[in-house]
Amino acid sequence: MNEYKNDILVTRSSMPSLQEYIEEISPLWDSHWLTNMGDKHKTLARNLKEYLNADNIDLLVNGHMALELSIQALKLTGEVITTPFTFASTTHAIVRNGLTPVFCDIDSETYTIDTSKMESLITDRTSAIVPVHVYGNVCNVEEIERIAKKYGLAVIYDSCHAFGVEYKDKSISSYGDVNCFSFHATKVFNTIEGGAVTYRDGMDDFGESLYNLKNFGIHGPERVEAVGANAKMNEFAAAMGICNLRHLDEEIAKRSKVYNRYVERLANVEGIQLNKPDANVTKKNYAYFPVVFNEEFGSSRNEVFEALAQEHIGARKYFYPITNSFECYRDRYSVDETPVALRISKRVLTLPLYADLALSDVDKICDVVLSCKK
Ligand SMILES: *Cc1c(COP(=O)(O)O)cnc(C)c1O
Repeated sequence: MNEYKNDILVTRSSMPSLQEYIEEISPLWDSHWLTNMGDKHKTLARNLKEYLNADNIDLLVNGHMALELSIQALKLTGEVITTPFTFASTTHAIVRNGLTPVFCDIDSETYTIDTSKMESLITDRTSAIVPVHVYGNVCNVEEIERIAKKYGLAVIYDSCHAFGVEYKDKSISSYGDVNCFSFHATKVFNTIEGGAVTYRDGMDDFGESLYNLKNFGIHGPERVEAVGANAKMNEFAAAMGICNLRHLDEEIAKRSKVYNRYVERLANVEGIQLNKPDANVTKKNYAYFPVVFNEEFGSSRNEVFEALAQEHIGARKYFYPITNSFECYRDRYSVDETPVALRISKRVLTLPLYADLALSDVDKICDVVLSCKK
């Protein structure tokens, strides 16, 4: 993949110093306890529960299994309302549970699920809503809650982009029944690979079920209660998370400098659409910098992508293609049902963004982007 030949990559994983990590993992050489909910797992779970101000938390091997096993633990049936403007994982998690995703279109400015189009998609088979806080933009959580209550639906947020985000001064994990997070190497907070599920109080059965499902559905020494998987976070991953969490606020502050430089350089350019600021998002995580190139820009998204590639700058067509147009789903779903998602997916590009990206590199990236303006 020529992506790896780029001088500026689209992302670069945050890491603690080698010394800090070695100190964190060295007790494992005494305990020989490498996985299955050891000390590191317990410590990270405690720290994250506090950081996210969550009622309850469980750690998993990755964000995908957080989604897939949450859906399984909720014992959903029939249809699930979701968005096609997301990573493959969201849709796959629904389909792999034997459920039918029903795709709702997105808002053209926040790229999150368009709640005004949601109620007409609800049938007597609908059991849940799986919205995504795309790029850390918060969904219309109040409207989603209203609709979920009215129709008796579960709400599972794919919060993989929204770690650390606060809405109206409350942690993102306070909204919905369940929140799924990814701690993949490319995310704002990483445990190399990893994920977590937070869930509200009063869902003890769900919590127990999820805990068992991530360990083959084993309920006791001689009892296997459910058809589970293996989705436990190991001790080395948890140790990485313990270290990275110590520096997270610093990393997010550095990201904000990069983000704001992009805004300075690219706002008010005809045809360039930036993320719409939302006053209700009281804490951002600066996870991504998506740019939508509208007609008036003159050059297409693909032309900008190529121009950046020429200069060895990696950008990402994220999310393109939308999930309801994937080869594996093509015969089942139609992109015509989500025209806004289709349009945005053809026009969006996420620019490089990570804590240590130099502002001079941001300027270089912006120079190339602006040179495409016609
Ligand atoms: C990263 C991501 C996932 C999957 O997380 P993994 O940890 O890579 O399994 C799911 N949904 C969204 C929106 C993501 O960005």
